[in-house]
Amino acid sequence: MSPPVFRFAPSPTGHLHRGHAYSALTTWRAAQAADGRFRLRIEDIDRTRSRPEFERAILEDLAWLGIDWEPPHLLQSNRGPAYGEALDRLEAQGLIYRCFRTRREVAEAMTQAPHGPEPAYFGERLAGAEESRRLGDSQPFAWRLDIREASRLAGQLAFTESGSGPGGEQGRIQVDPALTGDIVLARKDIGVAYHLAVVVDDAFQEVTHVVRGCDLFAATSVQRLLQAQLGLPEPIYRHHRLLVGPDGKRYAKRNRSETLQAIRERGVSAQQLIAELELD
Ligand code: GLU
Repeated sequence: MSPPVFRFAPSPTGHLHRGHAYSALTTWRAAQAADGRFRLRIEDIDRTRSRPEFERAILEDLAWLGIDWEPPHLLQSNRGPAYGEALDRLEAQGLIYRCFRTRREVAEAMTQAPHGPEPAYFGERLAGAEESRRLGDSQPFAWRLDIREASRLAGQLAFTESGSGPGGEQGRIQVDPALTGDIVLARKDIGVAYHLAVVVDDAFQEVTHVVRGCDLFAATSVQRLLQAQLGLPEPIYRHHRLLVGPDGKRYAKRNRSETLQAIRERGVSAQQLIAELELD
């Protein structure tokens, strides 16, 4: 049997902080314990926020933590054609539609999902003539997943949670399309969106075990649905707790958490930091 494959998939939109160190080490240790492989993917699809210097810093930080990965690492910015193919496949199945609504119009039409973390948007397709008129006027649009149609076609789906979700969810978890609504899968300015890129690349990198923070637990439903529609294999998921700082706030780029680079420059050793993280 081939060894299990794990991955760490940071976005180079800032420097890594303790939360990333926790996630990367948890994943890397899980790979070691399972005699598995560990792969790295740089999720640089957000062209406006990704920077090569952050990518370089990620490689340095991981090496400092003692983490090694199978070279070469994958760059999502090189994967456009694979995402395009996946999008074409979904279009051929009638599962995506062009949405011409502005951000504001979408925000106004959002509804609170019964148990979703955030309000979700469920849109509708335009009639052919109206769509052609807008395309003729070169109006910008986003490709959205018709989540109700996709879940109707897929039938009952589930994924395996071997860690735990934010509410302690474990085991076989039913996919709940209402969690995300009709997510955007591609748009001119962003090319492909996160959910599509992640499932295409998890399959491409032959990932069998996805270990990541439980902030992405809700995203797993729609990712599982996309895997099913694209005929991609289903990895096992393990969502882990999110680290919080002494102020009770989770470590995050937007909370201006101290970066691993700054911690290193203060003279803290990797061993000291790892001890402080209290890995499970
Ligand atoms: N790139 C995502 C992030 O940095 C993680 C994606 C994933 O693990 O599925 O939050």
